[in-house]
Amino acid sequence: MVRKTLGNRSKTLATLAVGVVVGGAVAGGGFAVADTKAPRSDRQITNMTDEVNDIKAYYGDTVDAQGEHWASPTSNYAKQVAGIEKDAKQYLQGHARHDKGKKKAIVLDVDDTSLSTYNYELETTFVYTPASNAQYIATKTMPAVFGMNTLAKWAEQQGYTVFFVTGRPEAQRSYTAANLAAVGFPTADASHLYLKNKENPPAYLACGKTCTTIEYKSGTRAHIESLGYQIVANFGDQYSDLSGGHSGKTYKIPNPMYYLP
Ligand SMILES: [Mg+2]
Repeated sequence: MVRKTLGNRSKTLATLAVGVVVGGAVAGGGFAVADTKAPRSDRQITNMTDEVNDIKAYYGDTVDAQGEHWASPTSNYAKQVAGIEKDAKQYLQGHARHDKGKKKAIVLDVDDTSLSTYNYELETTFVYTPASNAQYIATKTMPAVFGMNTLAKWAEQQGYTVFFVTGRPEAQRSYTAANLAAVGFPTADASHLYLKNKENPPAYLACGKTCTTIEYKSGTRAHIESLGYQIVANFGDQYSDLSGGHSGKTYKIPNPMYYLP
């Protein structure tokens, strides 16, 4: 995944808060655009300390004996995610029947859709760097986003094929697959886990080495469709996970911690 630093990311929080979200699903092209206009007064900016405290309260910040921060399963974040999962389960239940020779599939993003980066964000005080993120991914296991592992397993039992499409680099394939398996997701083997291969992009991505996130993700979903799958639902915590078509119904998982174009 590629992110901007906190300075750039934090300005987008207010914009995101008014994003078009109806019943957990996002309308096709309704993604938020970062507001780059300079505030005319400090009163137009949420104080960063307050903002971090709000985020911690929303996730039900819990500190363990080692001083590590984790989200709480009884938090408002967990409750909001549970509501979205309930809607998705109902939708998937009604669309599980295979028809027109298509195999049914769902697509999940990884970070903050399948696996929670909350602990990493707190460890790095919300300042993402590729180096610290790579180090974290190589050495730690992220917990599942509450209930997403159960939902994915359930969908698999209903006959859905579960695909993961992540902006993580190809070099993190083994760590990512191992983490997903360790916290109870369906198998993320080579044919079910797509990572971004910037050096050697697959031929089906016309944008090649210059793909934006939306181009990479939607192009990968188009490829999945070309393999005979019908994508019934697509889950992501960023609007760039859900835009560009080839999604079926889209489900936006909340993430007030950062914004990725
Ligand atoms: Mg994500």
